[in-house]
Amino acid sequence: MTKLDQIRAAEAKLLLSTYDRNPILFVSGEGVHMIDENGTKYLDLLSGIGVNALGYAHPAIEKAIAEQSKKLIHISNLFYHEGQASLALRLTERSGLDRVFFANTGTEAWEGALKLARAHAGLLRSEGKTIGTKFLALEHSFHGRTFGSVSTTHKAKYREPFGPVVPGVEFVRLNDVEDLRAKFSNEVCAILVEPIQGEGGIRPLTQEFFAEARTLCDSTGALLIADEIQAGLGRTGKWFSYQHYGILPDVTTVAKPLAGGIPLGAILCTEEAARAIHAGMHGTTFGGGPLACAVANAVIDTLESDNLLAHATEVGDYFQQKLRALAKKHECIVDVRGKGLMVAAEVDSADLGKKVVAEMLKRHIVINCTSDTVLRFLPPYILERAHVDTAIASLDEIFTENATHAAAQSAEGDNRG
Ligand SMILES: *Cc1c(COP(=O)(O)O)cnc(C)c1O
Repeated sequence: MTKLDQIRAAEAKLLLSTYDRNPILFVSGEGVHMIDENGTKYLDLLSGIGVNALGYAHPAIEKAIAEQSKKLIHISNLFYHEGQASLALRLTERSGLDRVFFANTGTEAWEGALKLARAHAGLLRSEGKTIGTKFLALEHSFHGRTFGSVSTTHKAKYREPFGPVVPGVEFVRLNDVEDLRAKFSNEVCAILVEPIQGEGGIRPLTQEFFAEARTLCDSTGALLIADEIQAGLGRTGKWFSYQHYGILPDVTTVAKPLAGGIPLGAILCTEEAARAIHAGMHGTTFGGGPLACAVANAVIDTLESDNLLAHATEVGDYFQQKLRALAKKHECIVDVRGKGLMVAAEVDSADLGKKVVAEMLKRHIVINCTSDTVLRFLPPYILERAHVDTAIASLDEIFTENATHAAAQSAEGDNRG
């Protein structure tokens, strides 16, 4: 039995069967490549689902971990350490928001944002305003797996097995301004959006829809909450994807790339929203620990010193341009969209989506398919044009083979018919 086979057998017996893993054992990584047990290099266009912004074995991350691990890894939030205020300053300066709460993961940050919205509405009620407790979320949304998060996540298969979920959530059709207006009232304490939906298929809000959500919230004091867990922190070429719209939410959440692979999430909010939270109302044991904060500070400094936001825009534009050229050649690619290094190519069937992911993996390139038909690319920000060329050449080969195969099958069918 190989080492991989041993691990597979043990996991099959010992773990909850939540994942359908690919049978590859990765042992290290370097730059934009992951390396398996045989030394085979894989080009990573997924970065651990949008996490490894600086790729693998980045010296800035190695240095931050090594230095901080010798000093302090954890102390709890009962005491001060050097990392939180400096990281909060970096985040508030870049987001346009005022205050920060550190959590560990995306879903935990989102959960806290939902609690903040409920507490804020309660504060407004205590001041004599009429405002309810309902949330408006969007179709195709994804906000995480804990109860509040999954209750505001649209896909039924994530919610229904765990019902009853948190009540008081209504879903609005994506980019349907009329539907948003019809469902909004002073019963609503927050409108929940991803400015560019990730899991839902790299779908951006329209300017009109996002602006209307802002206007409606302003009319009652409800909070506009933007989930930037996937799109935020430079992936789209701006620190926050709402900055492409010139619209400031009241609350935003970040996580995935924040500490370059060490778990860390954060809620960012305005002074107004922050009024609702007092000592003891919300907390975490691990969130915002010294190690995670030290690494996050190093990640943000490196994104800046290495000009990686501009780089993400440049290489991302190139990627989309190449995918568009591919779409002209292969009609099974029905759409190409995205911003910066959050890129999607939609194909015309779920079978094809699955097949392309598997064929790319055979060619040692890691991509993902979300929402059945959307090939999703979330590479490390350090990706270069040459890596894009490699990926495009493989995609071209796969789509060409697929078309040849389909033509042969249809000819066979014609002969039979
Ligand atoms: C990944 C993701 C989450 C959940 O983050 P976890 O760290 O997996 O809990 C929430 N919202 C969005 C937009 C995400 O992409």
